[in-house]
Amino acid sequence: MKILDLKTHVLSTPLDEGFAFAMGWVSRRSTMIVELITDDGVTGWGEALCHGLQPPQIAATIVQTALKPIVVGQDPFDVDVLWERMYNLTRPFGQKGAVPNAISAVDIAIWDCMGRALGKPIHKLLGGAYRTDVQPYAAGFYRRPGVSYPADAIAEARRHLAAGFTAMKLKIGFGVEEDIAYVRAVRDAIGPGPRLMVDANHAYNVGAARRILKAIEPAQIHWFEEPISPEDIDGYCELKNLTDIYLAAGENEFTKIGFREWVSRRAVDILQPDICAAGGFTECRKIAALAQAWHLPIVPHVWASGIGLAASLQFIATLAPAPLALHPIEPMLEYDQSAHPFRHDLIHGAITMQGGRVRIPDGPGLGIDVDRAVLDRYRCPADTA
Ligand code: CA
Repeated sequence: MKILDLKTHVLSTPLDEGFAFAMGWVSRRSTMIVELITDDGVTGWGEALCHGLQPPQIAATIVQTALKPIVVGQDPFDVDVLWERMYNLTRPFGQKGAVPNAISAVDIAIWDCMGRALGKPIHKLLGGAYRTDVQPYAAGFYRRPGVSYPADAIAEARRHLAAGFTAMKLKIGFGVEEDIAYVRAVRDAIGPGPRLMVDANHAYNVGAARRILKAIEPAQIHWFEEPISPEDIDGYCELKNLTDIYLAAGENEFTKIGFREWVSRRAVDILQPDICAAGGFTECRKIAALAQAWHLPIVPHVWASGIGLAASLQFIATLAPAPLALHPIEPMLEYDQSAHPFRHDLIHGAITMQGGRVRIPDGPGLGIDVDRAVLDRYRCPADTA
């Protein structure tokens, strides 16, 4: 089997109502989809994560100009060799950010293609599933214009609970005193039962993060995500173990090389690589092996559309509990509940929450099919590749 072509689909659409996180206002939903075509007639799909402020065209250009010449004509079953070539040949201008994002999309498409060729889901190719379904947590709680807080967040929390969620993550990073009052108010409103996490999107320095960490401890917070910049691993080491709240990070780190120091220095309690950003299945399985060797649990970051959601579920299926036990601590699925016009339509609505759980797709490859009409509907006008 040979790879004949890589097509890139750049999708972007404005939101009816923008929303803010700690780094700025998000006014569009965008993504970059890779379609991998083989001489056997098998097509594989992959997705590169586009953060709220990230133009999708960057990753598409990287695929078309830098990665396509490396993989076209090659056997997709040489996926590890192809990954190392993509990484090593882009090192001078890559290593972090949009280049690993683009490599991730190509790698996910290769794994989808291998699974489809063999008639097996990707989790079978990776050694099998530790679970058939996963507990999702609701990610959302972005700031909207013209509403008051914490009232709007309390209403949102109640909606998630009514929908069947038992865990959710609040966005913070809007000011130390405001965050402390906000987290306490939401916990008071929803009671002690639901699992609650907070995410500052690296809005703080160590001193400010320490003050928040200590002040929200009585609110029984499960983890504090990205309190400080991902470049400040020393700062994470200072913050860790100050309270019983787990420290979590990883969505802004890339490849096994990037994660090496986080793991070996025990800088966090929970590692959050994103399969659509950190290097796809080939690299995330190695990050998972590194983490396992340090007994560090992984709860992946997920913010992609349906293709990335399916890839994340395949990856989550393969994560060994750390440690394995009769009642092990299980990973969760980050399930973004904020506005996204094509997240579910792109895959014919194939992934849903039922009974408070999300099932791991068990069809070939990623286990989902892509709706080409949705690709065309949200395609950027300038996307001709
Ligand atoms: Ca986050």
